[in-house]
Amino acid sequence: MRNVVIIGSGCAGNTAAVYAARANLSPLVVEGLEAGGQLSLTTLVENFPGFPEGIMGPELVANIKKQAERFGAEYRSGEATAADLSRRPFRVTIDNSETVETRTLIVASGASARWLGLESEQKLIGHGVSSCATCDGFFFRGRPVMVVGGGDSAMEEGTFLTKFASEVTICHRRDQFRASKIMLDRARRNEKIKWLTDTVVEEVYDMAKNEVTGVRLRNVKTGQQWDYNVDGLFLAIGHIPNTKVFQGQLELDPEGYIISKGGTRTSVAGVFHAGDVEDRHYRQAVTAAGTGCMAAIEAERFLEANA
Ligand code: NAP
Repeated sequence: MRNVVIIGSGCAGNTAAVYAARANLSPLVVEGLEAGGQLSLTTLVENFPGFPEGIMGPELVANIKKQAERFGAEYRSGEATAADLSRRPFRVTIDNSETVETRTLIVASGASARWLGLESEQKLIGHGVSSCATCDGFFFRGRPVMVVGGGDSAMEEGTFLTKFASEVTICHRRDQFRASKIMLDRARRNEKIKWLTDTVVEEVYDMAKNEVTGVRLRNVKTGQQWDYNVDGLFLAIGHIPNTKVFQGQLELDPEGYIISKGGTRTSVAGVFHAGDVEDRHYRQAVTAAGTGCMAAIEAERFLEANA
C-alpha cells in the first residue's frame, strides 16, 4: 500500500514528488506516455524563475526528477490505464497489468497535443505531420514547412524550425494572435517566417507518396481556396487534458479538464490535481510546479487527518 501515487512526471508531478518525498511519504510516480511531460518536448525555457540565462526544458524536468529521487521518490515507467476511485484505498492499474493501492492520489497527467482532426492529417502523422518541432524539425533541413496556430507554441515552434527549414509559414485561423508579445515579435523579426492569417488547413496532400507534399488552404473571410506546397506540417493548436481514465469518477468539465474543488482538491476526497490537467488558463511550468507543491502538501495533510 502506497501513501501517495502521482500520475504524471512533468513539472507538476515531479514537484509533487519532491514535496511528498521530503515529507517521508515515499511517493510512487507513474511516468506516463510522455515521461517528463511537455517540458521534455520544448527547447529553451526563459521564464522559469532562478535561471537568468534560461534552461532547456528537458534539463529542467530531469533536474526536478533527480531532486525527488534524492529524497526517496520512486519512478515507474508506464501509463495509468485504469483507476478505481470509488473507495479508499484507491487502485491504479499500470499498463493494464500491475495494480497499486494508495491512500492518496495526485493526478498530474497533463495535456496532450490537439490535432485538426482531418483524416489526411491523421494518416500522415510521422510522415510529415507532427506536433513536436523539437522532435522532428531536424528531418526538414532545407525544406519548406508550415506551423498551424497563433499561440506561444506556434511562435516557438516556428522560430525553432527556421534553424532547419528553408522557410516556415505560420498559418493562423484569425488575424489576432494569442501569443505573448515578446514571442510574436521575435517570430516577426525572423525573415524566414511567412505569415498566413484568417486561413485554415482543409486537407493534407501526399500525392500517393505517403509523405506530406502540400496542403489545401481556405481563407475564412473570403472563402478562397488554394494549394500550398510544404514538406512538413506542424500542429501547435493547443492541448487536450489526459483524463480518460477518470471519466465518470472525477468531476470533469465538458473539455475533460478536472474541476477543482478549491486548492488542489477534486470531487473525490484524497484525490488531488496538479498542473495542466486542471489548469486551462496559466499552463506554465512554474504554475504547474506550484500546484504540484500544493497537491503534495494537501495529500500530506489528508493522510494526517485520516490516519
Ligand atoms: P494556445 O495558447 O491555446 O494557442 C492555441 C492556438 O491554436 C490558438 O491560436 C488557437 O486559435 C489555435 N487553434 C486551436 N484550435 C485550432 C483548430 N482546430 N484549428 C486551427 N487553429 C486552432 O496554446 P499554446 O500555444 O500551446 O500555449 C499554451 C500555453 O503554454 C500558453 O499559456 C502559452 O503561453 C504557454 N507556452 C509558453 C511558452 C514559453 O513561454 N516558452 C511556449 C509555448 C507555450 P485562436 O487563437 O483562434 O483560439
